[in-house]
Amino acid sequence: MHKVVIIGSGCAGNTAAIYTGRAGLNPVVIKGHEVGGQLSLTTEVENFPGFPEGIHGPDLIENMRKQAERFGAVYLDGEVIEADLSKRPFRLNLAGEWIETRILIVASGAKARWLDLPNEQKLIGHGVSSCATCDGFFYREKKIMVIGGGDSAMEEANFLTRFGREVALVHRRDAFRASKIMLERARQNPKIEFITNTTIDDVYDIKQNIVTGVKLRNVVTGETWEREVDGLFLAIGHIPNTKIFKGQLDLDPEGYILSHGGARTNIPGVFHAGDVQDRVYRQAITASGAGCMAAIEAERMLEAEGH
Ligand code: NAP
Repeated sequence: MHKVVIIGSGCAGNTAAIYTGRAGLNPVVIKGHEVGGQLSLTTEVENFPGFPEGIHGPDLIENMRKQAERFGAVYLDGEVIEADLSKRPFRLNLAGEWIETRILIVASGAKARWLDLPNEQKLIGHGVSSCATCDGFFYREKKIMVIGGGDSAMEEANFLTRFGREVALVHRRDAFRASKIMLERARQNPKIEFITNTTIDDVYDIKQNIVTGVKLRNVVTGETWEREVDGLFLAIGHIPNTKIFKGQLDLDPEGYILSHGGARTNIPGVFHAGDVQDRVYRQAITASGAGCMAAIEAERMLEAEGH
């Protein structure tokens, strides 16, 4: 039986692993299906303290993992497909094999949201993407469209101008949730065209198995029109990875874990860390901070129990 199992290998999971590793608890980290979490999908991170010149997201994650391994953390491939939190030790089904743990730290993050357009899912990987960093390279001199009005949309639109001939940024309102600095950066980029008060009705063309265009709708006038596009990038937020905990952990209506103070969930011995609970800040540094909190709570609980 393990003392500490951490689900998730992003900033939150890695930081929890560093702390519980240094506390001699030999944490086991389940990498999950998006190894390294959201940072592994980003390019430059300029706001993580300690890197005055910025650092590449995947490098930051890799450094954290190495740091945790130095203190005895063990990383396992795969995903937890079932969890039994009804009693301690907690039981986790890791791709068919059950493992047991006294403490569980849930740092499973959140995955990209899709628009649920009729043809969207069929064209993923054929012009529809949720990751500019991963796929931008394929759109050199192409027509790119980004959907969303948050920081991710601004970041992705800016990033994609390195590749695309043009980048259209489509947002359903005319007010933006993005931070002022990110919005201004995008607005000042001459390659980005802002199309506001507009939603997307569908993406074409499944017959050719490649994105050739989209149908847009102005939500104020009701006008619809088509536009040629080669790459459609969605940046419309995330859904927390908590499906396996439904009915066991207290979740909010969108599935984010409800905190019971600090890093505590409703189940003693199960702690939350990072984006799986945080719908407000969702930063690398706050996820790391939350991983640290979960680790300290885990350590104190095990110590009080004499383990
Ligand atoms: P977000 O802030 O939740 O923004 C999501 C955007 O998508 C919103 O503009 C939303 O529109 C739109 N949207 C959601 N569902 C939609 C739908 N069905 N159809 C059309 N549009 C839809 O998500 P995010 O941009 O991914 O950012 C998440 C967090 O990460 C934020 O806290 C952000 O500050 C942070 N972040 C920071 C950086 C950075 O500092 N470098 C970079 C990326 C992200 P409405 O506004 O109308 O709701």
